[in-house]
Parts: sequence; C-alpha cells; structure tokens
Amino acid sequence: MTDQELYEKARLYGKNALLWRQKFIGLLPEIQRRRLYEKKGFGSVFEFAFKFAGLSEQQVRTALNLDRRFSDKPALKALLENGEVSVHKLVRIQSIATPQNEAELAQAVQLLPQKALETFVRDERSELVQNESGFGEPLFEAKSLRAQTQSLNLSLEITEKLLELQEKRIDLNELLLEFLKKREEEILQEKEEVSSDLEPAKSRYIPIRIKKIVEREYGTKCSIQTCKHSAEQLHHTQTFALSRRHDPHYLAPLCKEHHVIAHVINLKVQGKRRVL
Ligand SMILES: [Zn+2]
Ligand SMILES: [Zn+2]
Repeated sequence: MTDQELYEKARLYGKNALLWRQKFIGLLPEIQRRRLYEKKGFGSVFEFAFKFAGLSEQQVRTALNLDRRFSDKPALKALLENGEVSVHKLVRIQSIATPQNEAELAQAVQLLPQKALETFVRDERSELVQNESGFGEPLFEAKSLRAQTQSLNLSLEITEKLLELQEKRIDLNELLLEFLKKREEEILQEKEEVSSDLEPAKSRYIPIRIKKIVEREYGTKCSIQTCKHSAEQLHHTQTFALSRRHDPHYLAPLCKEHHVIAHVINLKVQGKRRVL
C-alpha cells in the first residue's frame, strides 16, 4: 500500500466512523424515552451508549439536552435524530434557535462548514441583541461609547496642524465634516462614472480602477459592520455569472468566512454592510 492509499483509506474509514456515530447519537433520545436500555439489561442510557459506541457521559447528556431544547423546533430535531449534522454544529446553533427561525437555521447548519457557521451564529446573535433593544441601528449611546473608548490614531504632524487651526479659532468640526462629505461625494460620483461606462466584463478579473474605488469606500476591513476581520475577497452581490459586470455598486469586500456565508446562504449581505 502506498502512503497515499493508506491515507485515503484512513480518511474514508474515519469519515464513515463519524457518520455512523452521529446516526447512533440521533437514536439516543428515543431510546431514552422508551427506556429501551432498561429492557435490554443496561443500567442506564450512558452505559448503553458507552458499550455500543464508546460515547462519554458528557456526549450523551449533550445529545439528550439538545433533544429537549428542540422539542418545539421540528426541523432541527429532525437533523439531530437522523444524524445528518454533527452534535457539535447543532450545539452552536442551539443558543439562537427559536420556533420562528429554526427552519432557516436548519438549512444553514447543513450548508455551512464549522468556521463559517460560528461567524453566522455570532452575526445572528448580535442582530438579536440589537432587535431586543428596539432599534435596528446600533444605539446612539453605543456609538458615543465607541468615541469615548477609542482614540483617533493621528500622527504628531496632523495633531499639530489641527491644533494650529484650532488656535486660530477655525471650527475643526465644520472643517472635517466638509472634508468627509466631499470624500463621500467623490466616491459616489466615481462609482457612478465607472458603472455608467461599464462594458460587459470578459473575465472575473476585477480591473484595478474598480478595486481602488471599492477600497476607498470600505477600507481594508470586511464590509460586514460587526466583523473585525480583514477583507480577503471582493464579492459580487449580484451574481457575476448573470450580470457579467464589475459594477462597484455591487461589490463588497468580505473576509473568508463571510464570503462562504454569502455564497452558501446568500446572506442578507446587502442589509448588513455599510453602504454610501
Ligand atoms: Zn463572492
Ligand atoms: Zn467578515
């Protein structure tokens, strides 16, 4: 057997072992309900699960707990019982599941790889918190709190220049506001210009001019507001294969996980990113 053959074999057996174990775990809630372990002479469901599948007490408890939590969530309950999704992933989703969103979550949990799922759960949770506070937007207080805790990273040179202007009693707020407004207008205008003389693109390669505008608008961070990661890919919010256009209005820089999420569940990316 070559190294590669041995490796492939191990991978296949490992994958199957996990799948069968997942399926075994899915049977446990029903075995518990019927007290089947007792009828078959086991002291407890834990002993039963250990003897047959080598599961720890903790693993069994987790599965039974999930089953209880999913009692009013049929789609998630079905995923647990037919062993299609790992308990590990279901645990992640459990904390944000409600009877209203469980169908959507059942889809997400099947489609997303573990890491993207964690990002997805984090996003959903922060959205829940915001909705509970009664505002769609972050609270005003939350914004000013940011101003209180974060200081601007100004160079000595800029600080001195600004102080000089301040000494002359020039209104710095007004001055900077003007500058920021001008910047926004420039970006908007350039986006307009670029998109109006856009030819259907021949390749997925995004021209440097367009990349530059996008970077000017979004900086180098993932464009999902709550995300702190760097942007790694430019995502077409209108499917490129259909539009064949690199229109800067429909490009969003995303980190790796949000890009996976965007493609897999077509995330409400539009709503969550800050757009000029
Ligand atoms: Zn994309
Ligand atoms: Zn991100």
